[in-house]
Amino acid sequence: MESTMPDFREVPFDARLERVLFGPEEIADRIREMGTSITRDFGGQPLTVVTILQGGALFMADLIREIRLPLKTATVSVASYQGTESSGKVNFLEKSLPELDGRHILLLDDILDSGRTLNAIRRRFFEDSRPLSIRTAVLLSKRIERVEPIEPDYVGFEVGDEFVVGYGLDYNGEYRNLPLIGTLRREFIR
Ligand code: 5GP
Ligand code: MG
Repeated sequence: MESTMPDFREVPFDARLERVLFGPEEIADRIREMGTSITRDFGGQPLTVVTILQGGALFMADLIREIRLPLKTATVSVASYQGTESSGKVNFLEKSLPELDGRHILLLDDILDSGRTLNAIRRRFFEDSRPLSIRTAVLLSKRIERVEPIEPDYVGFEVGDEFVVGYGLDYNGEYRNLPLIGTLRREFIR
């Protein structure tokens, strides 16, 4: 197979990382704390946890197991990133929304950057459905000035203005399976 990428069979996986920001245990501990807060804040009310694919898949899988409430899950797919740059446009990849009417919604994303994605989805949910409420939770929040302001109800960790991968976050489709969050070495970014 033709490829400009280095042969990773000859490089230990972690050699592609520049810096590890959060390791597996740190992530697990923080998600446990977030689950505890969510459980407490929702006061026994049932909720629907909606995650944004694909990046938010691992976050949802781990977070819902730390929430002690009756809940349903759903997913939405959007795409805005190409490589390490946001295209600035949020495209919904499916025609219909999950069932949200009469439900408290907890909308999840892997990382909050410009704010466009969460805002676009929240807007669409309120326009096309009748949820009782929509709260938001992100595993990571970039410490930058948002293009579209939004204050998530739950934030796992803050990060600087750099491109991160791992724990669901990809670079051109890869690295989602890293059990940690880190930055890539320059030579592995085309
Ligand atoms: P926003 O719409 O807030 O600009 O960006 C949110 C989406 O952009 C996230 O769901 C994620 O898919 C992508 N994104 C933003 N920053 C990063 C990053 O540092 N790494 C990766 N892998 N994706 C990012
Ligand atoms: Mg995303």
